[in-house]
Amino acid sequence: MFAHLGTADPASIADMKLVKQTMIDPNPRATFQVASHPSEAFRSDLIAMSKLAKELGVKLHVHLLENIAQREDKAFHVLKEANALGPDLLGAHGIHLTDQEINILAEHDVRILHNPLSDMRLASGVIRLPELKQAGVQVGLGIDGGTNDTSDMFNDMRAALGLQRAISLQAGIFPRVADVLRMATVDGAKLLDMFDRIGSLTPGKKADLIIINPGNVNFAPSFDWVNQIVFNGQPVNVEWVFVDGQSLKRKGELVDVDPETIMEAAQKAATRIRRDLLPCK
Ligand SMILES: [Zn+2]
Repeated sequence: MFAHLGTADPASIADMKLVKQTMIDPNPRATFQVASHPSEAFRSDLIAMSKLAKELGVKLHVHLLENIAQREDKAFHVLKEANALGPDLLGAHGIHLTDQEINILAEHDVRILHNPLSDMRLASGVIRLPELKQAGVQVGLGIDGGTNDTSDMFNDMRAALGLQRAISLQAGIFPRVADVLRMATVDGAKLLDMFDRIGSLTPGKKADLIIINPGNVNFAPSFDWVNQIVFNGQPVNVEWVFVDGQSLKRKGELVDVDPETIMEAAQKAATRIRRDLLPCK
């Protein structure tokens, strides 16, 4: 999934079309989204990107009220102006929403991407999951790039569950244990309109699956596998990973990947970025 941030500048639009055409479309495992920012300050960019997403037949991806300060952006006003409110709008975070805005999301079937690890890490706030559920808004679970720190979906599920329990003081609040497992799998595929291809183990769909070793010590003692996967699961328990039937991890080892080479390249890139960003001494 590649979300390309663009502007109203024709050169930016041409770049995006080129990237989609040359790098994403030829790869059956890749999908493209158009990204923008829903703020009055970026009004013309948002309008252009909403139009482009429709033209390309892809989702429009925005960061929606991630921070309390973004209440100043008049996000809903400008999204309406850009004709962007609809099932092809993906709102990442969606934290500081009013009741009225939640109803607007539900009315237009706008989809919300919940990134609990990032929301904690960046001191963004706690999403109103029970209210979104009540209104009928589709919410999936994401990791929000680097700001989740671990790219660990087990942790992500626990955080989604734990945050709501912690602020409501109710163990029975939405989401329950099975709900977060669903949010991490089925619901994500549904809100991306990809449920006909992925999101469940169903004949005819792509074989996207992980195989977890239930014999690991962190699962003992075991009684209820939905509970154990959500509360006790760790990336190290994932022995096999298949994407579209192709194994990317086999018996605990990554396939065709040399971790040392990747770590070396990451260290090199991070050192260069740090050097460029940090003020000279
Ligand atoms: Zn984000």
